Amino acid sequence: MEIVVSGIRPTGNLHLGNYFGAIRNFLRLQEEYNCFFFIADWHSLTTHPKPGDITANVRKILAEYLACGIDPEKAAIYVQSDVKEVLELYLYLNMNAYLGELERVTSFKEKARTQPDNVNAGLLTYPTLMAADVIVHKAVKVPVGKDQEQNMEMLRKFARRFNTIYGVDYFPEPASYSFAGEATKVPGLDGSGKMGKSEGNAIYLADDPDTIRKKVMKAVTDSGPTVPDSPKPEAIENLFTLLKIVSSADTYNYFNDRYNTCAIRYGDLKKQLAEDIVAFTSPIREKILGVVSDTVYMDRVAATGAERARESAARTIREVREIIGFRG
Ligand code: AMP
Repeated sequence: MEIVVSGIRPTGNLHLGNYFGAIRNFLRLQEEYNCFFFIADWHSLTTHPKPGDITANVRKILAEYLACGIDPEKAAIYVQSDVKEVLELYLYLNMNAYLGELERVTSFKEKARTQPDNVNAGLLTYPTLMAADVIVHKAVKVPVGKDQEQNMEMLRKFARRFNTIYGVDYFPEPASYSFAGEATKVPGLDGSGKMGKSEGNAIYLADDPDTIRKKVMKAVTDSGPTVPDSPKPEAIENLFTLLKIVSSADTYNYFNDRYNTCAIRYGDLKKQLAEDIVAFTSPIREKILGVVSDTVYMDRVAATGAERARESAARTIREVREIIGFRG
């Protein structure tokens, strides 16, 4: 069976961006593929979290994976740091990853600009660790959001480079996978860019209804269109993108018509959007509350997942060692 791998960093709760960019695809793929879904705790070390925070955040994401419907009977759910084989491949990939190409990665440049006092080697080699995570299972598909496109290109480049250097056809070049065929970018509520934990503009799956309503009602808008059929400014387009994602087609069309005829009332749009988000997240939130206290169950899920992932990764490492020339 073909293999799928993806992960999410445990740096806080899952938000709508994580759900529609990644998790929704996990749910679909687990039905048909041999899936490995992990919690990227090594990747989260670039921001130097406290030990207690790592433990708590890993549990949080694990509970949310399960609450969203990722099924441990179907997919291997594991914590990245439980599969040490990944580190060996990370080292091999780093030996053939060049400073220039790593420095050119947009997300690295962005981090180097915004946090100049913490431009660490982990940040620089983020794409090689991501590549190791994926190709250690010889994955063919990676369900990720649009923000990961450049990392995916790097990942394919590293897989291809390994094959070329050693004259083998060993690692497949994995493709990004997206629900509708087109990578999803869920926008934030602050009028620009993507929804993200560090951007402070996110709606979390675990948010209670009042928090969601407050966040949505505060979303940036403007004074409204004055000319029929005028293009939407980014902040407004973002609200419509969110409507498209969580609301019915009728709702979207209704507000779109109101916009095009200059009759839109953003307050009404936001109220509807908030209710549609609440309707979507409420069942997930209830499940999160149910599963989060069952640490015995979660530990069992993570242990079983890690065992499956280690078995798959160890096989690859054995073969990679032979290809590289390590014997015995
Ligand atoms: P991260 O939270 O950066 O570890 O991202 C985990 C996954 O969620 C990756 O597959 C991202 O592509 C996806 N993701 C995060 N934010 C968004 C967003 N705003 N829109 C779409 N996908 C996202």
